[in-house]
Amino acid sequence: MKEIVPTPPAIVRNDYESIRELFTQNVVPSYGRFELVLSHGAGSYVFDVAGQRYLDLGGGIAVNCLGNAHPGITEALVEQSQKLIHTSNLYFTAPQGRLAAELVKRIGAGKVFFCNSGAEANEGLYKLARKFGHDEGRFEILTAINSFHGRTLAGIAATGQDKVKKGFEPMTPGFRHIPYNDLDAARAAISPATVAILIEGIQGEGGVTPATAEYLLGLRALCDEKKMLLLIDGVQCGHYRSGKFQSFQRILENIPGGEKFLPDGISMAKSLGGGFPMGAFWVRAPYADLLSAGTHGTTYGGTPLACAVALKILDVIEKENLPENARQLGAWMKSELERLATTYPSVVKNARGVGFMLGFELAENIPAFAASEKPAAIQFVNRLHAAGVLTVPAGTHIIRLLPALNLKPAEVGEGIAKIEAVVKSLA
Ligand SMILES: *Cc1c(COP(=O)(O)O)cnc(C)c1O
Repeated sequence: MKEIVPTPPAIVRNDYESIRELFTQNVVPSYGRFELVLSHGAGSYVFDVAGQRYLDLGGGIAVNCLGNAHPGITEALVEQSQKLIHTSNLYFTAPQGRLAAELVKRIGAGKVFFCNSGAEANEGLYKLARKFGHDEGRFEILTAINSFHGRTLAGIAATGQDKVKKGFEPMTPGFRHIPYNDLDAARAAISPATVAILIEGIQGEGGVTPATAEYLLGLRALCDEKKMLLLIDGVQCGHYRSGKFQSFQRILENIPGGEKFLPDGISMAKSLGGGFPMGAFWVRAPYADLLSAGTHGTTYGGTPLACAVALKILDVIEKENLPENARQLGAWMKSELERLATTYPSVVKNARGVGFMLGFELAENIPAFAASEKPAAIQFVNRLHAAGVLTVPAGTHIIRLLPALNLKPAEVGEGIAKIEAVVKSLA
């Protein structure tokens, strides 16, 4: 008689299927997700429910600045949660005051408002600009083509990409888009109603494009001349990703007049909380009291727990000299990406970015991608997943690398080798 051997339950596979099913049944399908179910991580490695290990060069989209499961963050969370998690902004707390002082110290004379996300930080800047121009009837904010400023109603109006607006018209009034890095276009676009210009220091979702030094300095002069606010969205490019606290500090280093440059407002989020959700904006001293008592607020803004985590992150970044790590390893990684562009021009068109905000553009019409409808960037990221590396696509042809600031040299080597293997297989 034939012995019946029961097949062992495919536990791992079942987890994947059952979790996928929970999403299909219960989660609003507003995200295009990759077919990976992640379960845990350590440093710049994450694991999926099947036990596969991935080198994380995406950092949860520039958020996990200390990597995964950092003991300092765990410690800050535990310690602060034993004292106070939340108080509301009816009261003062030490962590919020101390964090504001640390941010001001890194930017310049001004004040900070705390909130919970990047979109919300930008909302604060829109309100600041409207308050500033209100009595003269000025309200319009110029933003850049290809920019990204978040998914709230004002956020999609501010964002210079049609794909985020489609289906949600009419748009919130008061936003117009201008070409990025084009000073003449900015000047020409100003109307009697214009009150501010908002740009990313380095465009992220738009494909890793840094502002030029001349553009930043020119916009500053233009805004001074026209009595407008210059606002910088530092949500993705800020928090030492460029090698300096804010990307404009990096772009303008060693540029005559650069050391005096300050915008009037800066939004922050992503790496600010290292994965604990939080956002903030800084406003330059002359305008720091425009948003007076009762004009703006949010229940969770600047909770002791969020601020304790953010303070710990700044402490670790400084003690471990991580800005220098981002600068040096970023330069190495970029030179390796440039080498790939030179060696495999039929696959990689160029390398872009600075520090740990890097990207590379894929060539048009890669033959291996012709069979699928999916954008080249998505197909490339899928192949990198199979090779054990996480990255972030931007647009249809750009791959972004936004790793933890404490990425190690050996991890850069591993990442480049795996990216090169995928590139080679497509050449
Ligand atoms: C991610 C991002 C935002 C939006 O931040 P959320 O936390 O997703 O609301 C805004 N601006 C830029 C430049 C971003 O990269």
